[in-house]
Amino acid sequence: MVNVIKQYDFGYPLMKVTLLGTGTSQGVPVIGCKCVVCISNDPKDSRLRSSIFIEVNGVNVAVDTGPDFRTQMLNAGVIKLDAILYTHEHKDHVAGMDDVRAFNQMEGRVMEVWANKGVEIALMRDFHYAFEDSMIGGLPKVKINKLGKYQEENGFVVEGVPWTLLPVMHDKMEVCGFRVGDFAYITDVNFIPEDTFKKLVGVKVLVISALRKQRHPSHFTLNEVLQVVERVKPEAAFLTHLSHYIGKHKDLESELPEGVFVGFDGLVLENV
Ligand SMILES: [Zn+2]
Ligand SMILES: [Zn+2]
Repeated sequence: MVNVIKQYDFGYPLMKVTLLGTGTSQGVPVIGCKCVVCISNDPKDSRLRSSIFIEVNGVNVAVDTGPDFRTQMLNAGVIKLDAILYTHEHKDHVAGMDDVRAFNQMEGRVMEVWANKGVEIALMRDFHYAFEDSMIGGLPKVKINKLGKYQEENGFVVEGVPWTLLPVMHDKMEVCGFRVGDFAYITDVNFIPEDTFKKLVGVKVLVISALRKQRHPSHFTLNEVLQVVERVKPEAAFLTHLSHYIGKHKDLESELPEGVFVGFDGLVLENV
């Protein structure tokens, strides 16, 4: 993991965003793959599953808990986590939830989680023991706050900090993007509704998924992502959820238009 800090005006005081993971569902390198990306020595070509950590006004929020959640919390040195926001229920975004118990134990409280219906069903199925009134120590404890129509229209508040819900589509699955201040995070998307484009007006920094250049049934191609960036016009856009097919970090960065950058694990975006 490389630590590089870039500064932007997020329109919100005391704000810091860390890219914890920028890889697609299998991560990069892919197990057993000998392609140029997977054997690259550049640390920026090593990508854990996609997730971000946002510190805003003293409130610490993780977006998603993929299979690398534990490693990501250790890498970023997170010792306080107030809430988890979930984008959608695919395994590369939820599989690591079990490890919230470290925070349950450290902070002596239930983890506040924000999730839409699909995520709620998946979490209660896969991690049923986290919702049971059990006296057995060591189990994770989670409380779900719903992300539905009301939150879509009115936003939601996490420990005093207002967030905007940005619904997008991932083939037939509804995915939650999130905006806080003038920062927005959208991953796993192949369609953005007009109402969500309206909520993106004024965003200064956009982190958005761009799997690869070739067509995929549930992800935008790189070109389609660049068209979204062109329309939203942030000061800076960072690509995440990248597959080994996208090529090496260095090569990809040299192909991108001004203001668009390749995200990498450990990148920190801070308020000026
Ligand atoms: Zn994904
Ligand atoms: Zn590969």
